[in-house]
Amino acid sequence: MKPKNFDVIIIGGGIMGSSTAYHLMMADASLKVLVIEKDLGYEKASTALSMVNARIQFSLKENVLISQYAFKILENFEDEMAVDGVKPAIFYRREGNLFLHDKKMEPAARRAYDMQKDLGCAIEWWSPEKIKQKYPIYENLEGIVGGTFGSEDGHFDAYAVLMGYKSKAKSMGAQFIQDEVVELLTNKNPGGTMTTIQGVKTILGETFFSSQIVNCTGAWAARLVKTGGIELPVNPVKRQVFAVTPKFKPDGPLPLTVLPSGFYFRTETGGLLLLGKSMEEDPIGFDFTWEDDRFEHLWGELYDFAPVFESLKLIKGWAGLYAVNTLDANAILGEWPQLSGFYLANGFSGHGLQQGPAVGRYMTELILKRKPVLDLSIFSPERVLLKKPIFEDGIV
Ligand SMILES: Cc1cc2nc3c(=O)[nH]c(=O)nc-3n(C[C@H](O)[C@H](O)[C@H](O)COP(=O)(O)OP(=O)(O)OC[C@H]3O[C@@H](n4cnc5c(N)ncnc54)[C@H](O)[C@@H]3O)c2cc1C
Repeated sequence: MKPKNFDVIIIGGGIMGSSTAYHLMMADASLKVLVIEKDLGYEKASTALSMVNARIQFSLKENVLISQYAFKILENFEDEMAVDGVKPAIFYRREGNLFLHDKKMEPAARRAYDMQKDLGCAIEWWSPEKIKQKYPIYENLEGIVGGTFGSEDGHFDAYAVLMGYKSKAKSMGAQFIQDEVVELLTNKNPGGTMTTIQGVKTILGETFFSSQIVNCTGAWAARLVKTGGIELPVNPVKRQVFAVTPKFKPDGPLPLTVLPSGFYFRTETGGLLLLGKSMEEDPIGFDFTWEDDRFEHLWGELYDFAPVFESLKLIKGWAGLYAVNTLDANAILGEWPQLSGFYLANGFSGHGLQQGPAVGRYMTELILKRKPVLDLSIFSPERVLLKKPIFEDGIV
């Protein structure tokens, strides 16, 4: 018979669930940890469908600190996640991020730049002339007052990082099973107001018990927590990425370049250019269809900015889901105040991948009641109940 009782159950085995499992096992290898993932192929997990960018270019100090921590972890990740001498290959490339700012954005961009500098980040303010000098192909800088260049920002193979956390957590005793949690089991204290978490029911008819459960279900978070009486302001929102091969081949890699409109692009290995943009009309729901008709619009923006990309071929693309926290687009981290033992790691919008290392560690510290190395209480779920947003200007 399968064991039914666990010290911690993690629902969802994407970057957040796997990093949390790893950190729990590292903290105490005697813990019985179960990760329940509905698709161990991760076909629709945001982790596997992201642009995999990591940057310190945020306006909220805690978001910058989280990324600084990620940078440190990614540098040594392959060695640290080795299992029986086999290392994951994560292709961590620090090719830089260039955010372009117009007049309206300038005051906030300057404030963020000063803060990032104070925190010791590798960040430079570039004038339009400097941008042109560095990247002469960026011909149209009309309306641009400057750019912030994070030279240590970069990208990596998200799937390899996910597998790295997962296999290391498994090697230390964490269990991963494929099943879907369909209901949270809770217990209301008789006559009291407090409710505690007890376990979960799954689509395969199993019941698993634990007094500590972590919700790492990404874009599916709100739907699941409803079964425990929680209203979470997290929407699944479709985002699309396009991969093209341009006729013009840049001399070297181009940084992830983000225009004031939110349009972004960067080079990828194999002569590819990746493009994307979050748009108002992006639908809410579990829609993974990729619509290549949007490409015309994006190509227009690219061509207008860098006419050398006049000629290119659309190769492929994909759609994935942002888990958009509609209160403030920031992470929601911690125990739900009205459901004892139930922890949330949700609402990461478009910047969760790089937050995986810090979030996994923080969730572990909360569950094991340890003093956090990095205080992330600003992201506490209380703010959802109090409707008190915390603002971040660097949402893409
Ligand atoms: C197009 C796109 C571009 C992005 N670009 C970036 C970027 O450049 N940088 C960055 O940092 N972030 C980026 N993100 C965001 C990032 O991918 C996410 O924030 C991050 O991957 C969230 O991780 P997660 O573990 O919370 O969610 P997921 O990776 O989605 O994992 C959640 C898992 O839970 C499982 N699950 C759901 N419900 C259940 C259930 N009831 N029972 C069992 N299992 C369940 C799902 O199958 C899934 O595997 C991007 C996202 C997209 C879509």
